[in-house]
Amino acid sequence: MNSALAIAAHPDDIEFVMAGTLLLLKARGWEIHYLNLSTGNCGSVRHDAATTRRLRLAEAKRAAKILGAHFHPPIADDLEIVYDVKLLRRVAAVVRAAKPSIVLTHSPQDYMEDHMNTCRLAVSAAFSRGMPNFVTTPRRRAVAGDVTVYHAMPHGLRDGLRRRISAELFVNTGSVQSTKLAALAEHRTQQDWLDVSQGMNSYLRAMEDASRAVGRLSRRFAHAEGWRRHSHLGFCAEDTDPLRTALGRDALLNARYEREV
Ligand SMILES: [Zn+2]
Repeated sequence: MNSALAIAAHPDDIEFVMAGTLLLLKARGWEIHYLNLSTGNCGSVRHDAATTRRLRLAEAKRAAKILGAHFHPPIADDLEIVYDVKLLRRVAAVVRAAKPSIVLTHSPQDYMEDHMNTCRLAVSAAFSRGMPNFVTTPRRRAVAGDVTVYHAMPHGLRDGLRRRISAELFVNTGSVQSTKLAALAEHRTQQDWLDVSQGMNSYLRAMEDASRAVGRLSRRFAHAEGWRRHSHLGFCAEDTDPLRTALGRDALLNARYEREV
């Protein structure tokens, strides 16, 4: 069975920028996998780290269940996602377990280090999938086969130096927007309950605003997620684009981006 693995930094990042694409793949018969590297332990000013870790683990599991995704537990704490071999062995083990032909991860340029380090770990973990001499934690046998890595849009659609990042591929997430919202809503510790207006709080609205903004960039879709494909070298054949192939009319190539490649 075709398999896709989303690797993000924090609990709720997948719901913000990747979940729509996962849902569309799932609807086409793909097996989907969900991994946040961090426990999200710093994501509260009310609860201590241990309590926050516990609450957010339960939230992320419920969100993954709504998406119909296989859940993989976090391996680090907030601001402690560093590019080191210890974490790389852990991420590589998940890649070998999920055997994905698509890996979705953060943008190499993003607003914070956890996102960018997660991206680097995801890329190297995918790169090492077929290397028997790279030992994973837990130890898993190397796996054969092509994998294509796609980078999500950065937070705010800009890099850390405020430059705009454009998408190579737009994915029409309108048909799965309500499920994406339901999954995001499971992250209750992250919602600002004091700022409820018009029946929807600012946390959920932020995701809606972001998917509309990417939709506007596509000039076709009302809600969209944007992706950039990683270099094929070491991963797959040059012309392989499994996301675009799988999603058909729900995927739109950005001709302007392609001209600049
Ligand atoms: Zn994040």
